[in-house]
Amino acid sequence: MSNNRYYQPEIETMPVEQMKALQSEKLVKQVRHIYDNVPYYRAKMDRKGVTPDDIHGIEDLHKLPFITKDDLRDQYPTGFLAVPQSECVRIHSTSGTTGRRVVAFYTQHDVDLWEDCCARSIMATGGTEEDVVQVAYGYGLFTGGAGLHGGSHKVGSLTLPMSSGNTERQIQFMMDLGATILCCTPSYAAYLGESLKERGYKPEDNKLRAGIFGAEPWTEEMRRDIEKSLGIKAYDIYGLTEISGPGVAFECEEQHGMHINEDHFLAEIIDPDTEEVLPEGEKGELVFTCLDKEAFPMMRYRTRDICVLTREKCSCGRTLIRMKKPMGRSDDMLIIRGVNVFPSQIETVLLQEGYAPNYLIEVDRINNNDTLDIYVELTEDQFSDTVKAITAAEKSLANAIKVMLGINPAVHLVAPKTIARSEGKAVRVKDKRKLHD
Ligand code: ADP
Ligand code: ZN
Repeated sequence: MSNNRYYQPEIETMPVEQMKALQSEKLVKQVRHIYDNVPYYRAKMDRKGVTPDDIHGIEDLHKLPFITKDDLRDQYPTGFLAVPQSECVRIHSTSGTTGRRVVAFYTQHDVDLWEDCCARSIMATGGTEEDVVQVAYGYGLFTGGAGLHGGSHKVGSLTLPMSSGNTERQIQFMMDLGATILCCTPSYAAYLGESLKERGYKPEDNKLRAGIFGAEPWTEEMRRDIEKSLGIKAYDIYGLTEISGPGVAFECEEQHGMHINEDHFLAEIIDPDTEEVLPEGEKGELVFTCLDKEAFPMMRYRTRDICVLTREKCSCGRTLIRMKKPMGRSDDMLIIRGVNVFPSQIETVLLQEGYAPNYLIEVDRINNNDTLDIYVELTEDQFSDTVKAITAAEKSLANAIKVMLGINPAVHLVAPKTIARSEGKAVRVKDKRKLHD
């Protein structure tokens, strides 16, 4: 493996013991910084009876209190700001997928380290200054556009700051300027693939060779679908506004879990109910501590994303710990007739059964009974089938989903182009039960 696949080889391939020492050194300083500058967190530490003097290294991390999304909402907008506002150069905000927005602040140092993380992700796909990076994540309050944009600059690639939407223009610039790396949400990548095909383009007609897709959960089936329709290798990228944005973790050519940029972001997995720290390899809620951010230094922030960490050796040569694909956050999980259901499980079945990833899950409660309706769009080819064939297909799909979930859904196969496409994060679930409470 040649070194040009690393942006910061000394960090990305650092021996684990040395990384832990670096994390410890940073953590000690960071705890002091937040204790001295964020009264809300200081009070939390005081209540737990812990002071910065009790923190000597990462082995003491478990002594610190957690921060939750509710804390951030409570302290909206500036309660967690740890430097004078005059030292900040930017804000971003969550997309508000699950409630009130959170505003995160950045100093120039914070922007730099975040962009470095995105540059690591781009170089892990083999990115160089020869590449043309089409950034089709939204620009603005959302972190997607700004993060990959900054990373692309750091690598020295030609950056196309497209932002999301305007599919016609995306395709025109992709073709005319020979974009080689596409960055957007996986649902928009799937849509671009579909749109190219409709316009008569074959996968080999574009110059794309890699895609960096994240900001929402997506399945391996969806990955293969996108890779085929665009003729690329698709890499996952993970992040959240509270911690910085995309690039908290990124995938290498192995496509087997994302390397966490753990020189900046220290990861733990906890049991979401007991808050107990779980050993490596166990599934639980992902928790992050920012080790060297200045303006908005989250400590033990509970992401609500459910996943698994592994230190298994990776053939790319990176020693950074890996996180498995989070298959949704704990608050995406639906409880239907007492059964836990993640939308990603349904997506897996749909794609396995040969359907496109255009679907909508509707949950309701009628006469005290939960109902599960799944609307799945047919492709033009599938749509030409007879009513009899379609009814049979609905039955067979409902059966396959029942095998996966253990509950019976009502499946509705609908005409092509009847389910709204997403340019950013896809909305796949309508839980009408909430409306009745
Ligand atoms: P919001 O919480 O409003 O959606 P963000 O844009 O900060 O705001 O979203 C961060 C969340 O997006 C993460 O906590 C995670 O649930 C999800 N996410 C981001 N990247 C990925 C990814 N690669 N795979 C699965 N989920 C992801
Ligand atoms: Zn790797």
